[in-house]
Amino acid sequence: MTSLDDLPIRDELRGRTPYGAPQLDVPVRLNTNENSYPVPEPVVEAIGKAIAAELRDLNRYPDRDAVALRADLADYLGHGLGVANVWAANGSNEIQQQLLQVFGGPGRSALGFTPAYSMHPLLATATGTAWRDGRRGADFTLTVEHAVAQVREYRPDLVFLCSPNNPTGTALDPAVLAAVLAEAPGMVVVDEAYAEFARPGTPTALALLPDHPRLVVTRTMSKAFGFAGGRLGYLAADPAVVDAVQLVRLPYHLSALTQVAARAALAHRDTLLGTVAAIVEQRDRIVATLRARGWRVADSDANFVLFEVGGDQRVAWRALLDRGVLVRDVGLPGWLRVTAGTPAETDAFLAALDAWAASGAGPAASAGPAVTAGGAPADRSVGPGPG
Ligand SMILES: *Cc1c(COP(=O)(O)O)cnc(C)c1O
Repeated sequence: MTSLDDLPIRDELRGRTPYGAPQLDVPVRLNTNENSYPVPEPVVEAIGKAIAAELRDLNRYPDRDAVALRADLADYLGHGLGVANVWAANGSNEIQQQLLQVFGGPGRSALGFTPAYSMHPLLATATGTAWRDGRRGADFTLTVEHAVAQVREYRPDLVFLCSPNNPTGTALDPAVLAAVLAEAPGMVVVDEAYAEFARPGTPTALALLPDHPRLVVTRTMSKAFGFAGGRLGYLAADPAVVDAVQLVRLPYHLSALTQVAARAALAHRDTLLGTVAAIVEQRDRIVATLRARGWRVADSDANFVLFEVGGDQRVAWRALLDRGVLVRDVGLPGWLRVTAGTPAETDAFLAALDAWAASGAGPAASAGPAVTAGGAPADRSVGPGPG
């Protein structure tokens, strides 16, 4: 039998594993930050009608430039943006891949600050771009000095920032973005996949676009809009950046069905975004409940919460899964990430966590001399601070 190792794949892909958050059939799935609420019936009907009206014309290629959709997205974003500032693709992952194809590639590099979105290094590698694994402080914060020093050291062709950051959930300090923009020799990409969930007063990088032609803000309809299955991501930038990605995009990359479905969804954005407040309430409830019980939790501006389980997080992950709750192990020793969904999902998550903690596990146990779960207790002198 032929295995992957027998095939002449590119050297830098050898031994790699594909992106693979488990898609398990369990009662409570809180591991990929989807919106837990199904698409509301009026929006289902509108999308159905829009798709039906398009079907007769499927003999033709779609609008290669997705102009109508981009106009709708620009209108949604505001900030004086127009069609020329916006580009759309099959998820913001494809947007970021296109950015790496045009601004990265062989002989070039991209810098991100780990822990951040796990797809950034994967996309870099897949496009032949060298990945520079930048670091945060022990408490996950990124200071101006630390960020600037790493940009100076690596001189990357692209810098990836993520605000609110996944997996920590915390929004980026605007001073860090300003400093990176001033220092970076190339493009600066701010991944704002969770912008709609941010706490009031959290700035968006969109406001900086007019003064920064090398700044790119990526957004998605996968999270707040509850449209992950529709696959629609987009960017906002200087029109020259939109011209640049045309050089690498596949012709007709965005299907006619995707375009009309996304437009119908955008037309009902008030309904779709109506779930954001309820999700934010659950997020704040998870943060407050865990903190009241003495758990360390990162500040969250997103629809998920990073919390410390102490010891080996794989043991905690398994214990929750055994109780029907799937959360995310992002590979951060001692920490797990949970998506905020419906009140019932929060109930189930907290109950599963309580049941596990009652068995003698959890952060309280790891703080004491009895080390649980086969791992050393984490340093408790630091905590994810605001930022
Ligand atoms: C979920 C997520 C995305 C979304 O990717 P899509 O391809 O648009 O579904 C992008 N960036 C981050 C940081 C995410 O967590």
